[in-house]
Amino acid sequence: MSTSKRFTVGWLYPDLMNIYGDRGNILTLLRRAEWRGLEARVVELQRGAVGGMDDVDVFFFGGGQDREQALIYDDLKEFKQESLQNAVGGGAQILAVCGGYQLLGHYYQTADGERFDGIGLIDVTTRAGKKRFIGDVVVVTSIEGLTPSTLVGFENHSGRTFLGPNAKPLGKVLSGRGNNGSDKTEGTVQGGIIGTYLHGSLLPKNPHLADHLIGAALRRRGDGALSHLDDSEELAAHGWILQRAQRR
Ligand code: GLN
Repeated sequence: MSTSKRFTVGWLYPDLMNIYGDRGNILTLLRRAEWRGLEARVVELQRGAVGGMDDVDVFFFGGGQDREQALIYDDLKEFKQESLQNAVGGGAQILAVCGGYQLLGHYYQTADGERFDGIGLIDVTTRAGKKRFIGDVVVVTSIEGLTPSTLVGFENHSGRTFLGPNAKPLGKVLSGRGNNGSDKTEGTVQGGIIGTYLHGSLLPKNPHLADHLIGAALRRRGDGALSHLDDSEELAAHGWILQRAQRR
């Protein structure tokens, strides 16, 4: 099949950075590409030198506890950083959740004061607080043209992330804590990178965000138009979480 019909998801550290159902994001990206007639495939990007990162359309970097983050942050700098920078520079997209999100920034500092260097692809810094933020989150997103404009998910993190001048929030928190529980922001959008604290997994209940990532990645090949899908079930799940949050 020609490369223009191929859609590749690059899954960073699937054995270590994959908690609270994050693999559901991989399945959603693959199925939604297949339903558009693309040949969807996933490339697992484990620790060590890996090939094929320049073929990836969308990278996924899931969440992980401090222990797992400690196991991979050196590898991220040594073996993945340059290829990720080049890929995003060429129009690939990255979706990073929680632990993965934190390590795309400048650093993540644990509650014990241990600092894990990030790769600085996004202008954020994160320090862990004493209390974990756990629960449902509803966000109004700042991404133009997303319908609905809300995103729903589940958070479980100790990190408090603060955005620098080159990053903008993924959205405004309507319920839950988001980036840091104080400035009402959630996540980060910077170039082709989306960082977020929304586990759940995120994309099955936010199909509009999945299509945003798929379409943006395909546009680099000159073909970002996606056929319409019946998302009534997915959006019913989305709406149920919205209603539940409003009842609280
Ligand atoms: N260990 C990080 C924190 O506690 C990330 C956790 C996660 O990925 N859910 O903030």
